[in-house]
Amino acid sequence: MSASIRILVTGGAGFLGSHLCERLVGKGHDVICVDNFFTSQKTNVAHLLAHPNFELVRHDITHPLFLEVDEIYNLACPASPGHYQYNPIKTMKTSVLGAINMLGLARRCGAKILQASTSEVYGDPEVHPQTESYRGCVNPVGPRACYDEGKRAAETLFMDYHRRNKIDIRIVRIFNTYGPRMHPYDGRVVSNFIRQALRGEDITVFGDGSQTRSFCYRDDLVEGIVRMMNGASDFIGPVNIGNPGEFTIRELAELVIEFTGSKSKIIECPLPVDDPTRRRPDITLAQKHLGWEPKVALREGLIKTIEWFRSIRLEDYRAPTPNF
Ligand code: NAD
Ligand code: UDP
Repeated sequence: MSASIRILVTGGAGFLGSHLCERLVGKGHDVICVDNFFTSQKTNVAHLLAHPNFELVRHDITHPLFLEVDEIYNLACPASPGHYQYNPIKTMKTSVLGAINMLGLARRCGAKILQASTSEVYGDPEVHPQTESYRGCVNPVGPRACYDEGKRAAETLFMDYHRRNKIDIRIVRIFNTYGPRMHPYDGRVVSNFIRQALRGEDITVFGDGSQTRSFCYRDDLVEGIVRMMNGASDFIGPVNIGNPGEFTIRELAELVIEFTGSKSKIIECPLPVDDPTRRRPDITLAQKHLGWEPKVALREGLIKTIEWFRSIRLEDYRAPTPNF
């Protein structure tokens, strides 16, 4: 086991952050989880609270933070379209001011810092599959821009702090990731379809369902970002982390119906503005530099996720607070 270090995980109570905290605590590190609980709840990390190596801090990363840490995983940001469009100005502030604050902290402490970026930096891509060298096709004035452009600006800040201040950075572009502990009301396609199927409600395919996504199971994703943080210092990214298996949204709906045994019908609803038509990561760089590739196929991951959705009480979850 590598030596124990102090690690800050922003957004650590969220879907991916809580799994990352679990994993880092399990490796013997001192983990500080910082979150404002905008799209998550304390229950996600309740099982870690009694652990002597785990600390939970309620804090909003749009404000500066003074801590002593060796590594920072910057995951704090609403991630689903419904959540990030709920308060778009706040989303942009979280991406940009949050990045500045966390990079400032990294600079002061001499910490290594990883940014959770996104495949949304590619927008509605003309290049398929998406390689890291593709510069993207983002509508800067559309409803997704608060997130897409916020994450693009954060990448710029990371690169400039690296070039100007020699901060040791890593940038990971995460493609659609799913699994247990997704927020059941986040409005993402996997959580919507499973929730609808389990309750016998209509399954809401947006548009004709021919748009594609590539779905990565959360364990594969967490493994990828940990490898990136611990990888060679001359490979800072951006690197795509995602599962290249590509499915239409209608295929996903059919799989969910099959695995839940649901009698739900598939219905078509209006396609959201600027919804990307296709998305699939080229993971050549991750394979070459990190020896990483996903291991969990969509079928296997969906079955585990459905099991988890069956085990929770939906009334324990709420949508983002309107007073935020
Ligand atoms: P999530 O919403 O479950 O987690 C985000 C966490 O950040 C939540 O706990 C939320 O309360 C917290 N947060 C939001 N704004 C904050 C702020 N200003 N200060 C402090 N905490 C704040 O989403 P997730 O899927 O776990 O995503 C984690 C990260 O990965 C995000 O940065 C997201 O953009 C990125 N990402 C996720 C996916 C995916 O498919 N899950 C895809 C691409 C990128
Ligand atoms: N989608 C859908 N029905 C839903 C939710 C989403 O058909 O109930 C579609 C959405 O239009 C998009 C895809 O599923 O084409 C993935 O949406 P999600 O919000 O999960 O993530 P995105 O990749 O768009 O950020």
